[in-house]
Amino acid sequence: ERNHMKLEFLSKSKNESFSRIVVAAFAAQLDPTIEELSDIKTAISEAVTNAIIHGYEYGDGIIRIEATIEGNVIEIIVEDFGKGILNLEKAMEPFYTSKPDLERSGMGFTVMETFMDDLKVETNESHGTRIIMTK
Ligand code: ATP
Ligand code: MG
Repeated sequence: ERNHMKLEFLSKSKNESFSRIVVAAFAAQLDPTIEELSDIKTAISEAVTNAIIHGYEYGDGIIRIEATIEGNVIEIIVEDFGKGILNLEKAMEPFYTSKPDLERSGMGFTVMETFMDDLKVETNESHGTRIIMTK
């Protein structure tokens, strides 16, 4: 049976854990293993942190998360309406970061790819970034 949720919140660091817990609670109805749930939380955390730190680096903006359950699969979309990613191919390379000074390791996208079954990124300069993940 299909199910769907949508969540919008301001891009503040303190909302990162809140958003990850909400998605995990929604995903719980799929009866995931502890490990699967932890993988989803980790991926959400990376996507939301990116929206906060990179998408809205100059001020707060709206982050929207949508999750859809269809059969045994959950699709999660994390979207910001911030600055977008200029060179997506480069951004997705392991260890690439545009903020090496801020102790970033450049592993966010790699983590999302590793912990989820599928990852797609749609981005547009000055329109924002949309991360679509399934598990
Ligand atoms: P880490 O995630 O390890 O702390 P990071 O955030 O720099 O470091 P990734 O998450 O892999 O590494 O992202 C790579 C790069 O892609 C970022 O440095 C940033 O330039 C760009 N980026 C990622 N997400 C966004 C976003 N939502 N909006 C704008 N740029 C982004
Ligand atoms: Mg990151």
